[in-house]
This record gives sequence, C-alpha cells and structure tokens, in this order.
Amino acid sequence: MKNRPLIMTPGPTEVAENVRLARAKATTNPDIDAEFYDFYKATCSKFAQFLKTKNDVRILAGEGILGLEAAVASLTEVGDRVLVLDNGIFGRGFADFVKIYGGTPVLLSSSKTQAFNLELLSDFLEKDHDFKYATVVHCDTPSGVLNDLEHICPLLKKYDILTVVDSVAAMGGEPLETDAWQIDIVCGGSQKVLSAPPGLTFLAISTAAYQAMQSRKTPIASFYCNLLVFKDYYEQQWFPYTMPISDIYGLAQAIDNLLADTEILARHAAIAQATRKTVEQAGLQLYLESGFSNTVTVIKVPEKLSDKTILSEMLEHYNVMMTGSFDELAGKVLRIGHMGENARPDKVATTLFALQKSLEHLGMQLQEQMAEYFLAQFKNEGC
Ligand SMILES: *Cc1c(COP(=O)(O)O)cnc(C)c1O
Repeated sequence: MKNRPLIMTPGPTEVAENVRLARAKATTNPDIDAEFYDFYKATCSKFAQFLKTKNDVRILAGEGILGLEAAVASLTEVGDRVLVLDNGIFGRGFADFVKIYGGTPVLLSSSKTQAFNLELLSDFLEKDHDFKYATVVHCDTPSGVLNDLEHICPLLKKYDILTVVDSVAAMGGEPLETDAWQIDIVCGGSQKVLSAPPGLTFLAISTAAYQAMQSRKTPIASFYCNLLVFKDYYEQQWFPYTMPISDIYGLAQAIDNLLADTEILARHAAIAQATRKTVEQAGLQLYLESGFSNTVTVIKVPEKLSDKTILSEMLEHYNVMMTGSFDELAGKVLRIGHMGENARPDKVATTLFALQKSLEHLGMQLQEQMAEYFLAQFKNEGC
C-alpha cells in the first residue's frame, strides 16, 4: 500500500496530530453530563476570542454548509429581500439558500478576478437599500478571491442591513475582526485553517441577528438549521440534538493550537506571497488580477494541458494531492491550499517540486526551479 499522500487541497487540510489524539479521548453522555455543557461553553468562548467578538458562538454538528444554511434559514421569511454579493461561486451560491427559504435574492455582481468593488456597492446602496440582510464571502475558495470585509460590512450596516459572512476558507489565515467590522453572523468550518477533520461548523451571532430571528412573523422553517433552538442551551442544560462529543474534543484542541500560534497570520502571508511570486517567476499564470487570499493560490491550467492529467501525474509519481476547481472554473485552474497545517514552507516546496516535475514530464518547460526559488525567499527568516 502507498503512503498517504500529502494533502495540499484548500480544505479539508492535513489534520494536526494532537487534534487526532484529542478525538480519541474517552467520552461521556454529552446530553446529560453537566461537565460537557461546561466544556462546550468554554470551547465556544475560545472561538469568540479567536473571532474577536463578544457575540454568542455556537458549534453545530455539520460542516461549513450547515452554518451558511442555518444563518439563512433563521433570518429569512417569505418575501424578504436579501442582497447577495456575487464575485465567486460561493458568493452566488447564497442565492439558492435564500430561495429555498422563500426569500428574494438580489444579486450584485462584481468582477470574478478582483476583490468586490466597493464603489459599485456604495453606488448601488445609495439607490436601493431595502434589504433585511446581505451575504458576503470572505475568501471565495474556487477562485481564491478575498473580499474586504472591513469596509463592506460597515457600509451595509450604515443602511441597517444585517451582514452574514462566510469566512470558512479565510478565518485563521486572514485577519477577521467580527465586532470591529460589524459582522452579525460569521460562519466557519473545522476542515480549513483549523486543521481538524470535516464535520463541524461554528457561528458567531450578534444581538441584532437574534432580534431579527425573534421578531419574525412566521416560524423558522427548519429544526436542524434553527439557530434559536440553541440560544439558551446552557441555562436549560439542553441541546436540541446529541452533540458529537469526539469531534468537539478535536475542535477544542484545534482552537487551542490556533490561539497559541501567534505567528499564524504572518506565516500565511509570507507563504502565500512567496508562492505567488514563484508561480509567476516560473512563467505560470495566476487566475486572479488582485484580491489574493493568503489561504489558497489559484493557477491557470497551462495551454494544451488538462488539469486532470497534471493532478494525476502529481499524485501518482510524487504522492502530492492538489485539486482543480468546479462550476465555471472546472478544468481551467489548479489550486494549492496553503492553509492551517498546510501553511508550512517545506510542504509548499514539495508541492511546487511535484507540480514542476509533472509539468515537465508533460512537455512543458518552466523558467525557474520553483522549489528552490520558493525556499530561497525564507532563507533569512529561519522558517
Ligand atoms: C469549504 C467551504 C465551505 C464549506 O463547504 P464544502 O464544499 O462542503 O467543504 C463553505 N464556504 C467556503 C468559502 C468554503 O471554502
């Protein structure tokens, strides 16, 4: 049997060893044991610290998509107008959730290869701002575009529009200031920068968002996606369903890892910058023009080559797993996830080496030795 490949996809990421071990701890009955309620509460508080918020945090049993759907399900009533900021596949995807719950999504589209255009948003809002809430993606992973939440969310709040943010693929690898940036609901997932296995999502929920849920005229059309059923779990010592205790033990270790890692943002920035510079130096092309997220690098598939051939060459001969993309980007780009446990110079260097050898084997000549060039950028930093 072959060794496990080096997983360099933009989520799920490589799971930290102490996270794997934490998941193996003996368990209690999480529905009944008061100690587990305290543990869950303490873990939520650590997430609040990580997300820089005083708001309530809840951890739900399901991966990132559950968090996004729960936010939409809990806020949306039939006929509500929702502003959907669209400069990527996840951005646009929020419209589907809004429709499922009877809302009317209004898409505002901005170039897919740049951060969302603030002037476009500001001009649009001057004319039309009758929205209950707006949805924004922090890093839209299929293209790797990063949006400027620091300016987008306060602009929306000026018009009393609640903000729902998908930061699943950015938080931990990019700055995120939930309260300072006035984010009402922010969603994350266990399998990205946190480097825990897929299976958990978490949300920070503002008082204004809770009020919008509580003042609905119609009930929330879901149980599993209803954020209000979790609101008073601690006072009531009651969870709406049995919590996946082992997953939460793992996630608690993952958040401890992140809080202890004071260099994590700088490391993501240095690695991402060096990766982009190397890719361009070698004569390959980045997909984006600007608005690069430091969690993922997205490279155009070189002419006359196919993503599938390159990826299978890399996996078969070098045991490195990268990925392509999907929807309108299917077949057009290759993605390196350098987030969380994957944001290590040695792992990215191995990946670039495998990419280079695979491209050369398929007949393409590059203009630089990528692994060496990449590593040379860390020489004076002791990484
Ligand atoms: C990974 C991710 C999610 C979670 O979705 P899955 O496709 O189920 O992994 C949500 N939003 C973004 C931006 C993500 O990158």
